[in-house]
Amino acid sequence: MGLTLQSTGGSLLAGADGRTAAPGIRRIALAGNPNVGKSTLFNALTGLHQHTGNWPGKTVVGAEGTFRLGRQEYQLLDLPGAYSLMAASPEEETARDLLCFGGAGLTLLIADATCLERNLNLILQALEITPHALLCLNLLDEAARGGITVDVDGLSDALGIPVIGTCAATGEGLDRLKAAIQAVYDDPDRRSPLQVDYGPVLEQAIRTVSDALGEELPLPTRWLALRLLEGDPRLLETLRRHLGHEWAMRPEVEQALAQSRRLLEVSGLPGPTLRDRIVEALVQRAQTIAEEVTTRPSSGRSRDRSIDRALLSRRFGIPLMVGMLAGILWLTIEGANIPSALLAGMFGPLEGLLDGLLRTLGITGWPLELLTVGIFRTLGWVISVMLPPMAIFFPLFTLLEDIGVLPRIAFNLDHPFQRAGACGKQALTMCMGLGCNAAGVVGCRIIDSPRERLIAILTNAFVPCNGRFPTLILLVGLLGGAAGMGGIGSALLLTLLILAGVGMTLLVSRLLASTVLRGLPSAFTLELPPYRRPQLGKILLRSVFDRTLFVLGRAVTVAIPAGALIWICGNLPVGDGTLLEQITQLLDPLGRLMGLDGIMLAAFLLGFPANEIVLPIALMGYLETGAMVEVASVASIGELLTANGWTSATVLSAALFTLFHFPCATTCLTIRKETGRLRWTLLAILLPTAAGMLLCIGLTALLRLLGCA
Ligand code: GDP
Repeated sequence: MGLTLQSTGGSLLAGADGRTAAPGIRRIALAGNPNVGKSTLFNALTGLHQHTGNWPGKTVVGAEGTFRLGRQEYQLLDLPGAYSLMAASPEEETARDLLCFGGAGLTLLIADATCLERNLNLILQALEITPHALLCLNLLDEAARGGITVDVDGLSDALGIPVIGTCAATGEGLDRLKAAIQAVYDDPDRRSPLQVDYGPVLEQAIRTVSDALGEELPLPTRWLALRLLEGDPRLLETLRRHLGHEWAMRPEVEQALAQSRRLLEVSGLPGPTLRDRIVEALVQRAQTIAEEVTTRPSSGRSRDRSIDRALLSRRFGIPLMVGMLAGILWLTIEGANIPSALLAGMFGPLEGLLDGLLRTLGITGWPLELLTVGIFRTLGWVISVMLPPMAIFFPLFTLLEDIGVLPRIAFNLDHPFQRAGACGKQALTMCMGLGCNAAGVVGCRIIDSPRERLIAILTNAFVPCNGRFPTLILLVGLLGGAAGMGGIGSALLLTLLILAGVGMTLLVSRLLASTVLRGLPSAFTLELPPYRRPQLGKILLRSVFDRTLFVLGRAVTVAIPAGALIWICGNLPVGDGTLLEQITQLLDPLGRLMGLDGIMLAAFLLGFPANEIVLPIALMGYLETGAMVEVASVASIGELLTANGWTSATVLSAALFTLFHFPCATTCLTIRKETGRLRWTLLAILLPTAAGMLLCIGLTALLRLLGCA
């Protein structure tokens, strides 16, 4: 692709891959370390919603949004969170390339005021690439709580760029930030940002090469000279792609390079040690600046440390987390009953109303039935069974994420995952799978090693997603009821089932890591963020809009055609019965072998579009009504199942197969997209299905042998 040069607000930056702003629109790149409030700031400026959560590494894909200041339109490009621009990870490489070639006329840097030194490492590197920058010093409230103060003006003087203190979470300082963005863009004669001094020898080498490069390039020649001296082949290839093949091939540049390399060599700075010298200088400069402008109390974060001592302790860490899970499940199960009943009570009369309305419109016969007891009733089921547990589970889950517990779970599970030959970060993607497997699969992008990412993707469906929760809740409710246990008993049973899912995830990961996906587990640094006070309003908004309504919307769109399909299966005469009856008869022998029956197995198959419709289909089959039953209480569902020969053993098999079977259609499509291969998608379907079938068959055989089934 050819090179496009673009003049934006006085700066000359190369835009490639069509990533330049439209004429008249000012483009800003937003860069910073992970977990410093980048998404929060992005959302506050653009009004869009990106995922925010208190753990590093969640922003893996850049987002773009626009906002206006006065009559001027701005376009904000969110770069992946990175600690450095040395391209040690895909995020760092993407961030660097977008800073160089993203077509932005201004870089908005964002830093965490509580740990400025680490943030400065990235900032100093960014200032070498982009002469037009502005720093948003965020999390000032958290710094103040920890007794840390930062001299904002002193920092601005040291860096040579404007610095604005903010608290993005509450919106404090954002007006000043916006004014500063405008001012920096409007003022062509700005100070030059700080350039780190790499010592006399390296500085001389840099000067020689940058003089030879000349002034015509769209990136600072000092930075380009340093990269040429370093000679990172991947970066040079990227530069060649964007700057054209000839940019550094001129004889005078090659001569200058050779001369500088010789100088470095004789001065004790040969090629391989160059990067160490650069990093050392950056780190030292970051340290001196941070020390000059920051005052911090001597005690440090003692509260966080004492919580971590308990939560991360070898002995109590995992039991505490299991307890937390059980607590959340108990709240979900107990809390969902009342709203579920209320919603179910609403849909009955609504169906009557719809029926009346359609009749007055002249719709009768099978079209009427298809619309009312087919589509509308399925919709009612899905909404009243799914919405209440989701509306409780998601906010609680988001709360854990917001206060910073999620990475601690990953920390505790790191060891077992490493032993299984997988990556500790898989614990995080597994937790995401608890909400929605498709989201968990996309989340696997946070795992750098392709081998470990595949393991995480292939095993994500071993934890139950939200679509399977309602069915599991109902089944454990039946088991709990049969055993005379209350909500607490059901919550414990559900916790055990989820733990079985985690155990299976580890087992299958181990299996994959020692067969088709062999290799050494990679080391990774998981940074533990500070515990943060939850922002309840935002948690509610985020969990309701980003998660609950998203999953519900998907379920509803699937439920409508699925409702129609199920109704057709239940009413289409084939042979001496309906299509559904024919299917269930065919599946009956296998179903019985697994401790289930043909109807239940057919329900799982027909529930492929969305797991949440499995149970309603089964009930429809048992009632032989050709339509879904009205949403009923757990007790009446229990009676219906018992009348159809279900025992506690059947409930257990059904729970096991609900936990371990093929992922839903959306997840399968997502796996296909993320892995790019049909064979991995098929394996992702095969693994949980085979595990579920084997477990059910084994359990049934054992129970029959013991005379319990
Ligand atoms: P990103 O990884 O840089 O995109 O960070 P996020 O925007 O996701 O923020 C990380 C966490 O910090 C979230 O829990 C935010 O709610 C929280 N957060 C962001 N800005 C502030 C702030 O100024 N003060 C406080 N106390 N929390 C903040």
